[in-house]
Amino acid sequence: MVRMEPNAKIRQADLPSLEILRYPDPRLKEVCTPVDAVDESVRALVERMFELMFASRGVGLAAPQVGVSVRLFVASPTFEPSDRRVYINPRLTVLEGTQEGDEGCLSFPNIYCKIKRANLATIAAVGLDGAEFQETGEGLTARIFQHEMDHLDGRLLVDRMGTVAKLANRRLLHSLKDQFAAR
Ligand SMILES: [Zn+2]
Repeated sequence: MVRMEPNAKIRQADLPSLEILRYPDPRLKEVCTPVDAVDESVRALVERMFELMFASRGVGLAAPQVGVSVRLFVASPTFEPSDRRVYINPRLTVLEGTQEGDEGCLSFPNIYCKIKRANLATIAAVGLDGAEFQETGEGLTARIFQHEMDHLDGRLLVDRMGTVAKLANRRLLHSLKDQFAAR
């Protein structure tokens, strides 16, 4: 039996060369494993993820989207540079009500579609300080929580699309597949 070093996946990542993976990269379909401990490697990965997220004008980014399949995501629902939220080993504890609105994803550039989500979501997670916390989000924040949690289980925007949304975005989805095949 091989004992994996804690956070080995994170330490193996070459941070400067990380980029946001696009559909249909198979790494986006992986079910992520928990982060062992909040150490320097986690802080460095989080820093790099915020850089990539803000540069791409995103409000949320999950670690598997940069090819590191661990359970953590970052978010900035207000898109303010000072609004930097980090969720390590998160889990949704309460989902209430419904909202239906346009949702996009940095791994699906230019695709937006109506997706039904809970309007209120409570998340329990560990922060960068290593302490557990809870946060309740409403509207967009709740949508981000649910979208990023999906990523950690390898569930993507395309898996949430209804038939109509899939048809409406057929061409864009095809072009993403072509671009991936041509890399
Ligand atoms: Zn996404």
